[in-house]
Amino acid sequence: MPTLLVRNAATLVTMDNARRELADAGLFARDGIIEQVGPTAELPSTADHVLDLRGQIVLPGFVNTHHHLDQTLTRNLRDAQNNNLFAWLKVHYRVWANRTPDASRCSTLVGLAELTASGCTTVFDHAYVFKNGCRVDDQIAAAKEIGVRFHACRGSMSLGESRGGLPPDDCVEDEPTILSDSVRVIEKYHDTASGAMTRLVLGPCSPFSVSTDLLKETARLARAKQVPLHTHLCETMDEERYTLERYGLRPVAWMGSLGWLDRDVWFAHAIHVNDEEIGEFARAGVGVAHCPCSNMRLASGIAPIKQYLAAGVKVGLGVDGSASNDASNILLEARQAMLLARLRIGLLPPTGPRALFLLSQSHPLRASEWMTAREALEIATRGGAAVLGRDDIGSLEPGKCADFFSIDLNTVDYAGALHDPVAATLFCAPQKARYTVINGTVVVENGRVITVDMGPVVEAHNRFARQFAA
Ligand SMILES: [Zn+2]
Repeated sequence: MPTLLVRNAATLVTMDNARRELADAGLFARDGIIEQVGPTAELPSTADHVLDLRGQIVLPGFVNTHHHLDQTLTRNLRDAQNNNLFAWLKVHYRVWANRTPDASRCSTLVGLAELTASGCTTVFDHAYVFKNGCRVDDQIAAAKEIGVRFHACRGSMSLGESRGGLPPDDCVEDEPTILSDSVRVIEKYHDTASGAMTRLVLGPCSPFSVSTDLLKETARLARAKQVPLHTHLCETMDEERYTLERYGLRPVAWMGSLGWLDRDVWFAHAIHVNDEEIGEFARAGVGVAHCPCSNMRLASGIAPIKQYLAAGVKVGLGVDGSASNDASNILLEARQAMLLARLRIGLLPPTGPRALFLLSQSHPLRASEWMTAREALEIATRGGAAVLGRDDIGSLEPGKCADFFSIDLNTVDYAGALHDPVAATLFCAPQKARYTVINGTVVVENGRVITVDMGPVVEAHNRFARQFAA
């Protein structure tokens, strides 16, 4: 059982229940599980692997709760640079349907390399276009190559244009195939154990790309197999118009009518919701994946994250994309979450008593409207863990997985901000991780993945991407 000792970190952010931030600290882990966290002087003096993190800050590994790793193949497509979701999707659907298992492996490795180098240790991926022999297995194998804790989604699209859906008919699958393949991958990969490296999720893509039947059947199957459910919801006003016209219900009410408001469900985006719907999410235990970069990129809107938190809704962070971001940098995403919540204060009237309208944004009575750096870090760590339904990640304390990353503090980028190094990680420009450790194993060193030789992968990835762009 290999042991790992981290020592001499300038600051260690535990994100434990007391939110302790320790100086000159470290941790000791055995077989991927933390046994001790505390001042260096109180830790064992040796281990099989020792990391001296002098001059660095250590944070719990970030949790990415919404992504489409295959989209790194279609970043920045010229025809999709300046449009909103529905138009953007129509540019991409057929290109995505052209991808092959080889291309899929490259894109997954590229996305995961970028994620881990920015501090991410647990990744949820929502794949939903399966043509040319592509399978969820492609993503799971690539995640194992890098060594990322991975929640794979057997996503789906079944409602083509001829039946009133948005995707072309040749990009969707038939429903019996979707359901039988869902059973296959759950039985093959889903690991319920504490410290699991691979779990499965079921995820019909969106209200406008699957049938009512498939949403119901998927929920029934997920509950029979005890795996979580995920989809995109309330991302755009186009989507709201779609469910109102087709089903006579707002998106949240429509999902509620299909048994999709429960504690085993989380929605990506959840921007266009009213106060009652926020309350319903809280009562039902539904989670939200907040994807600020994608929401800005596609002009989708600003999700009411502070209102969700105030209501007790679980919120995690998602980089989304990577064709709507077009980055998989989760430290950048946490920074954008903090900044976008602040932009909302300037654009929208305050919630609460009418008297607040007359007060400056910085009046003490409006303090709770501000998202702090520590709150954004909490969403990225503990929040994401709660959204994915895990109690073994999201903080650094005994019994939790040894998933963390470190950043050098004594750099040009942080100069002048070190009186509060924790907040500096978001207020200053996002930096690459010096080390990212997952399950007690070093995956990133000096900002680069060391478990996979990424040079040839990037070369092949660029070759595939050029073909798709053409
Ligand atoms: Zn998405």
